[in-house]
Amino acid sequence: MNNFIFITASDIIEYLYCPRFIYFQNVLDIEQHEHERYLVNKGRDIHELKMVRNKDYLRKTIGCIDKDIDVYLTSDKLHLVGRMDEVLTLSDNTKAPLDYKFAIYEEKLFKTLKTQQIAYSLLIEENYNCHVNRAFLVYVRSKNLIKEIEITNKDKENAQLIINDIFDIINKCHFPQGTKNKLKCQDCTYKNLCFS
Ligand code: SF4
Repeated sequence: MNNFIFITASDIIEYLYCPRFIYFQNVLDIEQHEHERYLVNKGRDIHELKMVRNKDYLRKTIGCIDKDIDVYLTSDKLHLVGRMDEVLTLSDNTKAPLDYKFAIYEEKLFKTLKTQQIAYSLLIEENYNCHVNRAFLVYVRSKNLIKEIEITNKDKENAQLIINDIFDIINKCHFPQGTKNKLKCQDCTYKNLCFS
């Protein structure tokens, strides 16, 4: 593994969307055009985040006894970095990441969101020397609906396999298989490169 490279939880989401995103972004260094739009949205979201974050009932509902806000963690072991909205200390002495999603809850948990929370869990366990077995998402546009996500040891092992695979692409300049879902290719920034 390259000792100087760290990946983010967002890289894991990109990988899950299509492993070739990692190749184009991290090996060929070609950014997606969406980057600027993301920054504009992020600014608006931070404003909304301040408005919901201090609502105390969120804590009580889930047995939270303490929390750290806007936490940036790194892992030298995993070569992973991540910034989470909150790290909660729960009444059973475990910890849990909590993220605010500026979205409406759609009756299902996307695999990408869950994997992001598993990556955060790995970072929390290493940095706080504690156990993490759940994470929380707050869907701001569904009246701050809180969804609990169970995180098992198997989930953590799978996330580590994904991280290893990402480093294989980066360190060996390996051009991976693209997504099997060809619908994703229709609007993809990289489609001309990818199929050329
Ligand atoms: S065109 Fe399809 S396979 Fe290629 S990078 Fe985009 S989503 Fe992946």
